[in-house]
Amino acid sequence: MTHTAEIISVGTELLLGNIANTDAQDISQMLSELGINVYYHTVVGDNPERLKAAVAVAKARADILITTGGLGPTCDDLTKQTLAEAFGRKLVFDETEAREIRDYFATRLHSHRMTDNNYRQAYLPEGCVPFHNDCGTAPGCAFEAEGVHVLMLPGPPRECVPMFRQCAMPYLRRLSDLELVSHNIHIFGLGESLVEDRLRDTMLRLENPTLAPYAKSGEVRLRVTARAKTDAEAEQLMAPVIAEVREKIGDCIYGIDTDTMENTVLGLLRERHVTLASAESCTGGLVSKRMTDLPGASEVFLGGAVTYAPASKTAILGVSADLIENDGVVSPSVSQAMAQGVRAKFGSDLGIGITGIAGPSSDESGTPVGTVFVSLATHRAVYTRKLHLGHDRDRVRVSAANHALDMVRRFLTDLPVEEWEK
Ligand code: ATP
Ligand code: MG
Repeated sequence: MTHTAEIISVGTELLLGNIANTDAQDISQMLSELGINVYYHTVVGDNPERLKAAVAVAKARADILITTGGLGPTCDDLTKQTLAEAFGRKLVFDETEAREIRDYFATRLHSHRMTDNNYRQAYLPEGCVPFHNDCGTAPGCAFEAEGVHVLMLPGPPRECVPMFRQCAMPYLRRLSDLELVSHNIHIFGLGESLVEDRLRDTMLRLENPTLAPYAKSGEVRLRVTARAKTDAEAEQLMAPVIAEVREKIGDCIYGIDTDTMENTVLGLLRERHVTLASAESCTGGLVSKRMTDLPGASEVFLGGAVTYAPASKTAILGVSADLIENDGVVSPSVSQAMAQGVRAKFGSDLGIGITGIAGPSSDESGTPVGTVFVSLATHRAVYTRKLHLGHDRDRVRVSAANHALDMVRRFLTDLPVEEWEK
C-alpha cells in the first residue's frame, strides 16, 4: 500500500515570515527517498485551537502525520499536548527520557541550570515510540491511532533533520515490506521541457519503477524509483528503464548518482591522466572553486586565474591588448586567447577561458547581458561556445561554469565539444 504524509509545521515565527520552513523542505525530500507521497504542507501558529483544526483536516486526507516544532519546554510549546488530545492519548512521564534530559544538561549544557519545566519534555503520549534527541533535549515520538501514524519532531533544523534520519526513517520503513531503491540520472545541455518531451510516453506508461524529472540549478535530473521485495529485484526492474532513458537522452547524461558535474569531470581527468587550468572573468573563479571543493583535485586541477579587468587578461594570460581593443573583451577570440594563455601559464593539458557579461547592466560595447564565450584549449584545437544565459547574474555565472565543465567532459569522452542542445 502506498502512504500519504502531511507535514504540519508549528510556529508563529514561520507565519510571520521570520524564518523559512526548511524542516518541511528537508522532510519532504527524505519522504520522497522513502517513496511516500506528500500532498500538503501546513503551517500553523503556536495556537492549540488552530493546531487541532489543522490536525482534523490532515488526518482525513493523510495516513502519516508529521509535526515539527513546539516540543520544547516553554509554554508556547503545545504540540505534544494538542496532538495527544486530538488522538485521545494521555501524556505519561517517561523515566528514560527524563534521565536522558538530565544527562544532557549535566554533560553538554554545563552553564545552563535545569528547571522544572525541562521535565515537561519527558511527558510523552502513552504507548508511543520515543525518538531520542542526540542534538538537544526535546525528544520526539511516534504512535499509531485511528489508522494514522503520528510523528512529532522538534523545530530546530539541527535537531529535526538528524532525528528524522535516525528515528523517523526506520519507523516509516517498517510500514512497508517492500524495499525502495532509486537512481538519479544527471543531465546537462537539454532543458527540462525537452527532456519531458522525449520521455513523456515512458513516464506515463511506467508504474513500477516510476520516472520523474526535477530541475536543479541549470541542469535536469531524472529519478527512477522501484519497489520490490529485494534490492536486486528493484535493480532488475530499473535496468531497462535506465537503458531507455540513455537511448532517448544520449550523451547529455553526464552521470548516474554522481553528485555534481565537477565530480564527473574530476573522475575523467584522473582516469585519463589529464590536467586542467582555468582562466575566468565573469565567473570570478567559480570553476576553480567548484573543482577545489573536491578533495584530491590537486592531482589534476593545477590552478586558475581570475582576470577580471582587461589589463589583467594581458598581464597574466598574455592576451594581446590589440585583440581586446579590436574584438572586444567579450568575444570568441578573447575567450580563446584566455584558454590558451592559462594552458601555457600553468603547463596544463587543458585550459578553460570564460569571458562574458553577467549583468545586471551591459558594458560600453552594448553586448547584451548574458552573452558569454566559453573556450576550451587542448593540444589539438580550441573549442568555443557562444552562450546567451539570460539576465540573472547568479544564473549566468553558474550556467557559464556548467558549460565549461561540460566542454571538458565532452572532450574527454570524445564527443563533439562545441555542441549542446538548448
Ligand atoms: P525548542 O526546544 O528549541 O523550543 P521546539 O521543538 O519547541 O524546540 P520551536 O520552539 O517551535 O521548536 O522552534 C525553535 C526554533 O527552531 C525556531 O525559533 C526556529 O529557529 C527553528 N524552527 C522551528 N520550526 C522550524 C521549521 N519548520 N523550519 C526551520 N526552522 C524551524
Ligand atoms: Mg520551542
